[in-house]
Amino acid sequence: MQRLDHQFIDNRWIASRSERRLPVIDPYRQTRLAEITAGDASDVDAAVAAAQRALPAWQALGGERRAGYLEAFADALERRRETLMRLSASNNGKALAETAIDMDDAIACYRYYADQARALESRQGRRVEHALDGIEARIYEDPAGVVGLITPWNFPLVTSAWKIAPALAAGCTLVFKPSEVVPLPELALAEIAVETGLPPGVFNLLLGDGAGIGAPLSAHPGIDKLSFTGSNAVGEAVMRAAATGSRGVSLELGGKSPILVLDDADIDSAADWVMAGIFFNSGQICSATSRLLVHHSLAEALYAALARRIDAIRLGDPLADDTDMGPMTSARQREAVERYLAIAKEEGLDAVRDARHRELPAQGEFVAPTLYRDVPLTSRLWCEEIFGPVLCARSVADDAEAIALANACEFGLAATVISGDAERARRVGRALRAGSVWFNSEQLVLPEAGWGGFGRSGIGRELGPWGLAGYLEIKHLIGPA
Ligand code: NAD
Repeated sequence: MQRLDHQFIDNRWIASRSERRLPVIDPYRQTRLAEITAGDASDVDAAVAAAQRALPAWQALGGERRAGYLEAFADALERRRETLMRLSASNNGKALAETAIDMDDAIACYRYYADQARALESRQGRRVEHALDGIEARIYEDPAGVVGLITPWNFPLVTSAWKIAPALAAGCTLVFKPSEVVPLPELALAEIAVETGLPPGVFNLLLGDGAGIGAPLSAHPGIDKLSFTGSNAVGEAVMRAAATGSRGVSLELGGKSPILVLDDADIDSAADWVMAGIFFNSGQICSATSRLLVHHSLAEALYAALARRIDAIRLGDPLADDTDMGPMTSARQREAVERYLAIAKEEGLDAVRDARHRELPAQGEFVAPTLYRDVPLTSRLWCEEIFGPVLCARSVADDAEAIALANACEFGLAATVISGDAERARRVGRALRAGSVWFNSEQLVLPEAGWGGFGRSGIGRELGPWGLAGYLEIKHLIGPA
């Protein structure tokens, strides 16, 4: 059993003063994979100090050299692909096939920001066109400084890559806190930092929970900017902490995304997209399309097609090749989803499929894939993020009603439109209030395009040039030519 009672600071594993320990659990086998330190504020002090020492040289290195390190990160991840996929399946409970997306999107992200680091260097000091005679103005983009990065457990390598890669490309140094629930895949990043010869102090990783590491990191005056992905409640606490010292913060938070099935959709392909949007990663995706709005003329046929597909989902060992869906990532998450299932019972929701329709595996933190139909708009299950394999459906009269109900939500992370007419799907998509809108597809993410949400789904954007901009400060140098 691993005993990770150390913190990764200055490219070395340094013993934490904290005596508290946290177990890391395999949610299928329900066994202990490791024990990590819970960390404390003294670890945060040490990591921030290391990042501050490393900042001037890392910034001065320039985008071209930093790009080389990012490419080396991508190569090193690629070499570990199979090992990390298995580790992710054990620690996260996601089916092996699903772990490939976490890996491959992370690798693509490091490569994309290597290119962005080069592009950044090439545009440093560019002239500003203006009408003042004899005056020269140039624009520089400097790193924001030392950044604190906090991530959740559902896609450990991707959510961290979306922060680490642009931060390094921008010339920031960082203190990264992975989730205490799934910290094992991210430990490879510390190994890779050493292997690629990243200068000490540029990348620091702290193990621990919200109380031990997250809160002191968010409040630390040496952190110039915070980037957080996780729940709304914690995101708001991070934002409050960032208010002291007027420090910048970007937040990637929850979602309750709609999927609209228009009246010209093909039932079978619509059913396939609906399934992919909610049951992937056991529904533990911020952008899961968990509210189905189907035209009334297709509703009965679609519910029947979904019921058949739900019955065919093979629940089981995430490491087995024939498993479609693994357990919830933790007992805590299973219990959280089960609380919603109890509310559904109290509210008298009509289940097309739920736990009564199948036997769950004898071991593991499983929740049965569930579909409720005709869910009232006032139901808590319709309004709140469940973060599990629970789909709520309603039928609608026309596109206008579908759009209105889709947008009647405090979240706005993602949405999907299914239609036989791509032009119509795009038109409906333009009317939706969401950061990513898929049409006749699901959960596609490109490193070149931004990621983030409207409303309570967060503040700022990751990925694309916007993801880099979050780690940069614009500097204007102006004077006589
Ligand atoms: P969480 O908010 O419980 O934890 C996220 C991280 O914050 C963890 O590392 C945790 O240790 C840390 N933390 C806890 N308390 C803290 C505190 N007081 N101060 C600072 N840090 C603290 O979220 P989770 O359960 O790990 O993840 C699920 C949530 O993440 C869902 O709401 C989901 O929608 C969201 N999510 C959003 C996106 C996105 O891109 N918008 C992506 C993935 C997950």
